[in-house]
Amino acid sequence: MPELDHRDVWVYVEHRGDEVHPVSWELLGVARRLADELGEEAAAVVLGHGARHLAERAFACGADRAYLVDDPVLEPYRAGAHAQVLARLVERHRPGIVLLGATGVGRELAGLVATAVGTGLTADVTELAVDRGRRLLEATRPTFGGKQLATIVCERHRPQMATVRPGVFPAPEPEPGRQGTVIPAEAGVVDPDLVAEVLEVLPADGRVDLERARVVVAGGRGLGEAGNVALLRELAEVLGGVVAGSRPAVEAGWIPREAQVGQTGKVVRPRLYVAVGISGAVQHLVGMQDAEVVVAINRDPDAPIFQVADYGIVGDLRQVVPALTEELRLRLRSLASRGATGGEPVRTGSR
Ligand code: FAD
Repeated sequence: MPELDHRDVWVYVEHRGDEVHPVSWELLGVARRLADELGEEAAAVVLGHGARHLAERAFACGADRAYLVDDPVLEPYRAGAHAQVLARLVERHRPGIVLLGATGVGRELAGLVATAVGTGLTADVTELAVDRGRRLLEATRPTFGGKQLATIVCERHRPQMATVRPGVFPAPEPEPGRQGTVIPAEAGVVDPDLVAEVLEVLPADGRVDLERARVVVAGGRGLGEAGNVALLRELAEVLGGVVAGSRPAVEAGWIPREAQVGQTGKVVRPRLYVAVGISGAVQHLVGMQDAEVVVAINRDPDAPIFQVADYGIVGDLRQVVPALTEELRLRLRSLASRGATGGEPVRTGSR
Protein backbone atom coordinates (compact mmCIF):
# COMPACT_ATOMS: atom_id res chain seq x y z
CA MET A 1 0.00 0.00 0.00
CA PRO A 2 1.24 3.54 -0.68
CA GLU A 3 2.75 5.42 2.17
CA LEU A 4 0.47 8.10 3.52
CA ASP A 5 2.99 10.93 3.42
CA HIS A 6 2.56 11.44 -0.32
CA ARG A 7 0.48 14.57 -0.73
CA ASP A 8 -0.20 17.56 -2.97
CA VAL A 9 -1.07 17.86 -6.64
CA TRP A 10 1.78 18.78 -8.99
CA VAL A 11 1.67 20.13 -12.52
CA TYR A 12 4.71 20.05 -14.80
CA VAL A 13 4.84 23.45 -16.54
CA GLU A 14 5.73 22.75 -20.17
CA HIS A 15 7.46 25.68 -21.82
CA ARG A 16 9.82 26.68 -24.57
CA GLY A 17 11.59 29.74 -23.24
CA ASP A 18 8.85 32.14 -22.19
CA GLU A 19 6.14 30.38 -24.11
CA VAL A 20 4.11 28.08 -21.87
CA HIS A 21 1.94 25.40 -23.44
CA PRO A 22 -1.66 26.35 -22.51
CA VAL A 23 -2.34 22.84 -21.20
CA SER A 24 -0.13 23.67 -18.22
CA TRP A 25 -2.48 26.46 -17.12
CA GLU A 26 -5.49 24.25 -17.81
CA LEU A 27 -3.96 21.61 -15.54
CA LEU A 28 -3.23 24.12 -12.80
CA GLY A 29 -6.95 24.93 -12.77
CA VAL A 30 -7.70 21.23 -12.33
CA ALA A 31 -4.92 20.79 -9.74
CA ARG A 32 -6.44 23.65 -7.70
CA ARG A 33 -9.83 21.90 -7.66
CA LEU A 34 -8.40 18.47 -6.80
CA ALA A 35 -6.12 19.90 -4.10
CA ASP A 36 -9.05 21.75 -2.50
CA GLU A 37 -11.11 18.57 -2.48
CA LEU A 38 -8.26 16.66 -0.83
CA GLY A 39 -7.35 19.47 1.58
CA GLU A 40 -3.86 19.61 0.05
CA GLU A 41 -1.81 22.10 -1.96
CA ALA A 42 -1.39 22.62 -5.70
CA ALA A 43 2.17 23.02 -6.95
CA ALA A 44 3.79 23.91 -10.26
CA VAL A 45 7.09 22.39 -11.33
CA VAL A 46 9.19 24.78 -13.41
CA LEU A 47 12.39 23.35 -14.91
CA GLY A 48 14.51 25.63 -17.08
CA HIS A 49 17.00 28.44 -17.07
CA GLY A 50 15.88 31.97 -16.21
CA ALA A 51 12.30 30.78 -15.84
CA ARG A 52 11.48 32.11 -12.37
CA HIS A 53 8.81 34.45 -13.76
CA LEU A 54 6.86 31.37 -14.89
CA ALA A 55 6.48 30.44 -11.23
CA GLU A 56 4.77 33.82 -10.63
CA ARG A 57 2.40 33.10 -13.49
CA ALA A 58 1.69 29.68 -11.99
CA PHE A 59 0.64 31.34 -8.71
CA ALA A 60 -1.79 33.56 -10.61
CA CYS A 61 -3.30 30.38 -12.10
CA GLY A 62 -3.85 28.68 -8.75
CA ALA A 63 -0.53 27.17 -7.57
CA ASP A 64 0.33 27.50 -3.87
CA ARG A 65 3.94 26.52 -4.45
CA ALA A 66 6.38 26.29 -7.32
CA TYR A 67 9.36 23.96 -7.36
CA LEU A 68 11.93 25.84 -9.40
CA VAL A 69 15.04 24.23 -10.80
CA ASP A 70 17.07 26.86 -12.60
CA ASP A 71 20.00 25.34 -14.45
CA PRO A 72 21.44 25.72 -17.96
CA VAL A 73 21.32 21.94 -18.37
CA LEU A 74 17.52 22.22 -18.50
CA GLU A 75 17.40 24.69 -21.40
CA PRO A 76 16.52 23.85 -24.12
CA TYR A 77 14.24 20.98 -23.19
CA ARG A 78 15.80 17.53 -23.43
CA ALA A 79 13.74 14.61 -22.26
CA GLY A 80 16.52 12.78 -20.42
CA ALA A 81 17.63 15.76 -18.33
CA HIS A 82 14.08 16.90 -17.48
CA ALA A 83 13.07 13.34 -16.58
CA GLN A 84 16.04 12.83 -14.28
CA VAL A 85 15.47 16.14 -12.46
CA LEU A 86 11.69 15.68 -12.22
CA ALA A 87 12.10 12.11 -10.91
CA ARG A 88 14.50 13.38 -8.22
CA LEU A 89 12.05 16.09 -7.16
CA VAL A 90 9.26 13.50 -6.95
CA GLU A 91 11.39 11.18 -4.80
CA ARG A 92 12.44 14.03 -2.50
CA HIS A 93 9.12 15.82 -2.05
CA ARG A 94 6.68 12.90 -2.50
CA PRO A 95 3.65 14.40 -4.27
CA GLY A 96 0.40 12.43 -4.28
CA ILE A 97 -0.50 13.32 -7.86
CA VAL A 98 1.58 14.50 -10.85
CA LEU A 99 -0.15 15.84 -13.97
CA LEU A 100 1.39 16.59 -17.37
CA GLY A 101 -0.13 17.61 -20.69
CA ALA A 102 -0.70 14.80 -23.20
CA THR A 103 1.56 16.63 -25.63
CA GLY A 104 4.63 15.16 -27.34
CA VAL A 105 6.79 16.46 -24.48
CA GLY A 106 4.39 15.47 -21.69
CA ARG A 107 3.84 11.95 -22.99
CA GLU A 108 7.54 11.31 -23.34
CA LEU A 109 8.44 12.79 -19.97
CA ALA A 110 5.62 11.15 -18.02
CA GLY A 111 6.61 7.69 -19.22
CA LEU A 112 10.25 8.23 -18.30
CA VAL A 113 9.45 9.61 -14.85
CA ALA A 114 6.83 6.96 -14.02
CA THR A 115 9.34 4.26 -14.91
CA ALA A 116 12.13 5.90 -12.90
CA VAL A 117 10.04 6.28 -9.73
CA GLY A 118 8.22 2.96 -10.17
CA THR A 119 4.63 4.09 -10.38
CA GLY A 120 1.67 3.82 -12.77
CA LEU A 121 0.62 6.30 -15.44
CA THR A 122 -2.74 6.89 -17.07
CA ALA A 123 -2.29 8.41 -20.51
CA ASP A 124 -4.50 10.70 -22.55
CA VAL A 125 -7.01 11.45 -19.82
CA THR A 126 -10.15 13.49 -20.48
CA GLU A 127 -11.69 13.66 -16.98
CA LEU A 128 -10.16 13.90 -13.50
CA ALA A 129 -11.75 13.46 -10.09
CA VAL A 130 -10.73 12.28 -6.63
CA ASP A 131 -12.18 9.73 -4.25
CA ARG A 132 -11.64 11.69 -1.06
CA GLY A 133 -12.22 8.75 1.27
CA ARG A 134 -9.58 6.58 -0.37
CA ARG A 135 -7.43 9.52 -1.49
CA LEU A 136 -7.35 8.14 -5.00
CA LEU A 137 -7.12 9.98 -8.29
CA GLU A 138 -9.82 8.81 -10.70
CA ALA A 139 -8.48 9.33 -14.21
CA THR A 140 -10.95 8.73 -17.01
CA ARG A 141 -10.08 8.17 -20.65
CA PRO A 142 -11.87 6.86 -23.76
CA THR A 143 -11.32 3.22 -24.61
CA PHE A 144 -12.57 0.59 -27.08
CA GLY A 145 -12.46 3.05 -29.97
CA GLY A 146 -14.20 5.73 -27.95
CA LYS A 147 -17.27 3.58 -27.32
CA GLN A 148 -16.58 3.39 -23.59
CA LEU A 149 -14.91 5.44 -20.90
CA ALA A 150 -12.54 3.72 -18.48
CA THR A 151 -11.81 5.18 -15.04
CA ILE A 152 -8.36 4.11 -13.90
CA VAL A 153 -6.98 4.27 -10.36
CA CYS A 154 -3.48 3.60 -9.09
CA GLU A 155 -4.04 2.01 -5.69
CA ARG A 156 -0.64 0.64 -4.75
CA HIS A 157 1.93 3.15 -5.97
CA ARG A 158 2.67 6.84 -5.57
CA PRO A 159 2.61 9.36 -7.06
CA GLN A 160 -0.49 8.86 -9.17
CA MET A 161 0.47 10.14 -12.62
CA ALA A 162 -1.61 11.17 -15.62
CA THR A 163 -1.17 12.93 -18.94
CA VAL A 164 -4.19 15.03 -19.84
CA ARG A 165 -5.31 16.08 -23.29
CA PRO A 166 -4.87 19.75 -24.13
CA GLY A 167 -8.07 21.71 -24.57
CA VAL A 168 -10.24 19.44 -22.43
CA PHE A 169 -10.32 21.70 -19.36
CA PRO A 170 -10.74 25.48 -19.48
CA ALA A 171 -7.75 27.55 -18.41
CA PRO A 172 -8.43 29.37 -15.11
CA GLU A 173 -8.83 33.13 -15.18
CA PRO A 174 -5.44 34.39 -13.85
CA GLU A 175 -5.63 36.20 -10.52
CA PRO A 176 -2.91 38.88 -10.75
CA GLY A 177 -1.01 39.39 -7.51
CA ARG A 178 -1.92 35.97 -6.08
CA GLN A 179 1.08 34.87 -4.01
CA GLY A 180 2.80 31.54 -3.59
CA THR A 181 6.06 30.08 -2.32
CA VAL A 182 8.98 29.42 -4.64
CA ILE A 183 10.93 26.34 -3.57
CA PRO A 184 14.31 26.45 -5.30
CA ALA A 185 15.94 23.09 -5.93
CA GLU A 186 19.22 21.93 -7.43
CA ALA A 187 19.30 20.02 -10.68
CA GLY A 188 22.04 17.81 -9.23
CA VAL A 189 24.43 15.96 -11.48
CA VAL A 190 22.64 15.13 -14.70
CA ASP A 191 23.94 12.08 -16.56
CA PRO A 192 25.82 13.61 -19.56
CA ASP A 193 24.51 10.78 -21.76
CA LEU A 194 21.04 12.22 -21.21
CA VAL A 195 21.98 15.72 -22.34
CA ALA A 196 21.92 15.49 -26.11
CA GLU A 197 23.62 18.34 -27.92
CA VAL A 198 21.04 20.57 -29.63
CA LEU A 199 22.52 21.58 -32.98
CA GLU A 200 19.68 23.70 -34.24
CA VAL A 201 16.10 24.55 -33.29
CA LEU A 202 13.88 24.77 -36.34
CA PRO A 203 10.62 26.71 -36.23
CA ALA A 204 7.51 24.58 -36.72
CA ASP A 205 7.30 26.08 -40.17
CA GLY A 206 3.93 25.70 -41.84
CA ARG A 207 2.68 23.49 -39.02
CA VAL A 208 -0.70 24.36 -37.64
CA ASP A 209 -1.07 25.24 -33.98
CA LEU A 210 -4.46 23.65 -33.78
CA GLU A 211 -4.97 23.59 -30.06
CA ARG A 212 -4.66 27.37 -29.82
CA ALA A 213 -6.48 28.30 -33.02
CA ARG A 214 -9.55 30.50 -32.66
CA VAL A 215 -10.94 29.38 -36.00
CA VAL A 216 -10.58 25.85 -37.43
CA VAL A 217 -11.76 24.82 -40.89
CA ALA A 218 -11.74 21.02 -41.04
CA GLY A 219 -12.26 18.78 -44.04
CA GLY A 220 -13.32 15.14 -44.20
CA ARG A 221 -13.59 12.31 -46.67
CA GLY A 222 -16.24 14.35 -48.46
CA LEU A 223 -13.45 16.50 -49.90
CA GLY A 224 -13.03 13.67 -52.39
CA GLU A 225 -9.58 14.69 -53.56
CA ALA A 226 -6.46 16.52 -52.42
CA GLY A 227 -7.14 19.49 -54.70
CA ASN A 228 -10.22 20.46 -52.70
CA VAL A 229 -8.08 21.22 -49.64
CA ALA A 230 -7.32 24.52 -51.39
CA LEU A 231 -10.98 25.47 -50.86
CA LEU A 232 -10.52 24.97 -47.12
CA ARG A 233 -7.31 26.99 -47.11
CA GLU A 234 -8.97 29.94 -48.79
CA LEU A 235 -11.86 29.86 -46.33
CA ALA A 236 -9.46 29.52 -43.38
CA GLU A 237 -7.40 32.42 -44.65
CA VAL A 238 -10.35 34.75 -44.88
CA LEU A 239 -11.50 33.74 -41.39
CA GLY A 240 -7.99 34.01 -39.91
CA GLY A 241 -8.01 30.31 -39.04
CA VAL A 242 -6.14 27.06 -39.66
CA VAL A 243 -6.96 23.95 -41.67
CA ALA A 244 -7.53 20.57 -40.03
CA GLY A 245 -9.17 17.28 -40.93
CA SER A 246 -10.89 14.07 -39.96
CA ARG A 247 -8.95 10.83 -39.84
CA PRO A 248 -9.90 9.69 -43.37
CA ALA A 249 -8.70 13.03 -44.76
CA VAL A 250 -5.40 12.52 -42.94
CA GLU A 251 -5.11 8.90 -44.02
CA ALA A 252 -5.71 9.94 -47.63
CA GLY A 253 -2.70 12.25 -47.29
CA TRP A 254 -4.74 15.44 -47.91
CA ILE A 255 -4.22 16.87 -44.41
CA PRO A 256 -1.05 16.53 -42.28
CA ARG A 257 -1.24 14.06 -39.41
CA GLU A 258 -0.61 16.71 -36.76
CA ALA A 259 -3.79 18.44 -37.92
CA GLN A 260 -6.12 15.51 -37.24
CA VAL A 261 -9.03 16.31 -34.95
CA GLY A 262 -10.63 13.63 -32.82
CA GLN A 263 -10.05 10.77 -30.50
CA THR A 264 -6.72 9.75 -31.98
CA GLY A 265 -5.92 13.30 -33.03
CA LYS A 266 -6.20 16.61 -31.21
CA VAL A 267 -8.89 18.19 -29.08
CA VAL A 268 -9.68 21.72 -30.22
CA ARG A 269 -11.70 24.42 -28.54
CA PRO A 270 -11.93 27.23 -31.10
CA ARG A 271 -14.50 29.99 -31.22
CA LEU A 272 -15.54 28.73 -34.65
CA TYR A 273 -15.27 25.21 -36.12
CA VAL A 274 -16.29 24.70 -39.73
CA ALA A 275 -16.79 21.00 -40.57
CA VAL A 276 -16.68 20.45 -44.32
CA GLY A 277 -17.62 17.03 -45.74
CA ILE A 278 -17.39 15.45 -42.28
CA SER A 279 -20.16 13.04 -41.23
CA GLY A 280 -19.84 13.58 -37.45
CA ALA A 281 -18.67 10.20 -36.14
CA VAL A 282 -18.32 10.08 -32.36
CA GLN A 283 -14.53 9.71 -32.66
CA HIS A 284 -14.45 13.02 -34.52
CA LEU A 285 -16.94 14.79 -32.25
CA VAL A 286 -14.86 14.19 -29.10
CA GLY A 287 -12.20 16.37 -30.65
CA MET A 288 -14.36 19.41 -31.48
CA GLN A 289 -17.55 19.34 -29.45
CA ASP A 290 -16.39 22.15 -27.18
CA ALA A 291 -16.08 24.63 -30.04
CA GLU A 292 -18.16 27.73 -29.29
CA VAL A 293 -19.85 27.76 -32.70
CA VAL A 294 -19.99 24.84 -35.14
CA VAL A 295 -20.85 25.32 -38.81
CA ALA A 296 -21.38 22.11 -40.84
CA ILE A 297 -21.35 21.85 -44.61
CA ASN A 298 -22.54 18.49 -45.92
CA ARG A 299 -24.60 17.28 -48.85
CA ASP A 300 -26.43 14.72 -46.71
CA PRO A 301 -29.19 16.43 -44.69
CA ASP A 302 -29.21 13.45 -42.29
CA ALA A 303 -25.48 13.58 -41.52
CA PRO A 304 -25.02 13.35 -37.71
CA ILE A 305 -22.77 16.42 -37.73
CA PHE A 306 -25.91 18.57 -38.11
CA GLN A 307 -27.01 17.41 -34.64
CA VAL A 308 -24.07 19.21 -33.05
CA ALA A 309 -23.92 22.13 -35.52
CA ASP A 310 -25.17 25.61 -34.64
CA TYR A 311 -25.47 26.37 -38.36
CA GLY A 312 -25.91 23.76 -41.07
CA ILE A 313 -25.56 24.20 -44.81
CA VAL A 314 -26.83 21.30 -46.93
CA GLY A 315 -25.04 21.27 -50.25
CA ASP A 316 -22.03 20.25 -52.25
CA LEU A 317 -18.91 21.61 -50.61
CA ARG A 318 -17.41 22.42 -53.99
CA GLN A 319 -20.13 25.03 -54.47
CA VAL A 320 -20.83 26.05 -50.87
CA VAL A 321 -17.25 26.66 -49.67
CA PRO A 322 -16.14 28.99 -52.51
CA ALA A 323 -19.44 30.90 -52.26
CA LEU A 324 -19.00 31.33 -48.50
CA THR A 325 -15.37 32.42 -48.92
CA GLU A 326 -16.34 34.96 -51.55
CA GLU A 327 -19.18 36.36 -49.44
CA LEU A 328 -16.88 36.70 -46.43
CA ARG A 329 -14.23 38.40 -48.53
CA LEU A 330 -16.76 40.93 -49.77
CA ARG A 331 -17.94 41.64 -46.23
CA LEU A 332 -14.34 41.96 -45.00
CA ARG A 333 -13.54 44.42 -47.76
CA SER A 334 -16.60 46.46 -47.01
CA LEU A 335 -15.80 46.48 -43.27
CA ALA A 336 -12.16 47.35 -44.02
CA SER A 337 -13.25 50.24 -46.20
CA ARG A 338 -15.20 51.52 -43.19
CA GLY A 339 -12.10 50.91 -41.00
CA ALA A 340 -13.94 48.55 -38.69
CA THR A 341 -12.28 45.14 -38.95
CA GLY A 342 -9.81 45.40 -36.12
CA GLY A 343 -8.27 42.13 -37.36
CA GLU A 344 -11.13 40.07 -35.94
CA PRO A 345 -12.86 37.33 -37.97
CA VAL A 346 -16.09 38.57 -39.59
CA ARG A 347 -19.24 37.36 -37.92
CA THR A 348 -21.83 36.05 -40.35
CA GLY A 349 -24.57 35.53 -37.81
CA SER A 350 -25.17 35.14 -34.11
CA ARG A 351 -26.98 32.81 -31.78
P1 FAD B 1 -17.23 9.98 -43.64
O1 FAD B 1 -17.85 9.40 -42.42
O2 FAD B 1 -17.07 9.09 -44.81
O3 FAD B 1 -18.10 11.25 -44.04
C1 FAD B 1 -17.92 11.98 -45.21
C2 FAD B 1 -19.03 13.00 -45.27
O4 FAD B 1 -18.83 13.85 -46.38
C3 FAD B 1 -20.41 12.37 -45.42
O5 FAD B 1 -21.27 12.86 -44.40
C4 FAD B 1 -20.89 12.84 -46.79
O6 FAD B 1 -22.28 13.11 -46.84
C5 FAD B 1 -20.09 14.12 -46.97
N1 FAD B 1 -19.83 14.47 -48.36
C6 FAD B 1 -19.36 13.66 -49.34
N2 FAD B 1 -19.19 14.37 -50.48
C7 FAD B 1 -19.56 15.64 -50.20
C8 FAD B 1 -19.60 16.84 -50.97
N3 FAD B 1 -19.21 16.86 -52.26
N4 FAD B 1 -20.06 17.96 -50.39
C9 FAD B 1 -20.47 17.96 -49.07
N5 FAD B 1 -20.44 16.85 -48.31
C10 FAD B 1 -19.97 15.71 -48.86
N6 FAD B 1 -12.00 9.99 -36.95
C11 FAD B 1 -11.58 11.25 -36.80
O7 FAD B 1 -12.02 12.14 -37.52
N7 FAD B 1 -10.63 11.56 -35.86
C12 FAD B 1 -10.10 10.64 -35.03
O8 FAD B 1 -9.24 10.98 -34.21
C13 FAD B 1 -10.57 9.29 -35.14
N8 FAD B 1 -10.11 8.33 -34.30
C14 FAD B 1 -10.62 7.08 -34.40
C15 FAD B 1 -10.22 6.11 -33.48
C16 FAD B 1 -10.73 4.83 -33.56
C17 FAD B 1 -10.27 3.82 -32.57
C18 FAD B 1 -11.67 4.51 -34.57
C19 FAD B 1 -12.26 3.13 -34.63
C20 FAD B 1 -12.08 5.46 -35.47
C21 FAD B 1 -11.56 6.76 -35.42
N9 FAD B 1 -11.94 7.74 -36.32
C22 FAD B 1 -11.53 8.99 -36.15
C23 FAD B 1 -12.77 7.42 -37.50
C24 FAD B 1 -14.23 7.73 -37.33
O9 FAD B 1 -14.89 6.60 -36.78
C25 FAD B 1 -14.90 8.04 -38.69
O10 FAD B 1 -14.69 6.95 -39.56
C26 FAD B 1 -14.36 9.31 -39.32
O11 FAD B 1 -14.43 10.39 -38.41
C27 FAD B 1 -15.19 9.66 -40.56
O12 FAD B 1 -14.56 10.72 -41.21
P2 FAD B 1 -15.34 11.63 -42.23
O13 FAD B 1 -16.50 12.26 -41.54
O14 FAD B 1 -14.35 12.49 -42.89
O15 FAD B 1 -15.81 10.58 -43.34
